[in-house]
Amino acid sequence: MQNLDIRKNVLLLRNGLRYFLTPEEENNLKKAIHDGEVKFDVQGAFITYGSIDGIFKPADIDAVDKIKRGWWQCKYGKWHTKIETCKCGFNKLTSADDIRKKYGDK
Ligand SMILES: [Zn+2]
Repeated sequence: MQNLDIRKNVLLLRNGLRYFLTPEEENNLKKAIHDGEVKFDVQGAFITYGSIDGIFKPADIDAVDKIKRGWWQCKYGKWHTKIETCKCGFNKLTSADDIRKKYGDK
C-alpha cells in the first residue's frame, strides 16, 4: 500500500501519476489554472492542462485506491475487502434484547 502524506493534497494526472503538492505549489497551480494557463511546471515535470485529472485530498485518493482493489464502503462508513462481509451493524447491537429484536426469538 502506498504511503500517503496526510498533510498534502495530491495532483492526480489522467495517466495515474501523482504529485504531493506543498500548499504553495497547490496555490500557484490553482491560480495558473484560474488564469487560463495550459502548461505548468510541477516539481520539474512539464504538465499540460489536459493531462490533469484534478487536485484531491489524500483521503479521496486513498478511497480511489481501495475501490480499484475491489474494496467497498458499507453504510457505516467502514471499508471492507472484496471478500469481507459487513458485520458493522451486528457489532452495534449491544444487548440480547437488541439481537432478539433484529433476529426474533428462535
Ligand atoms: Zn461494514
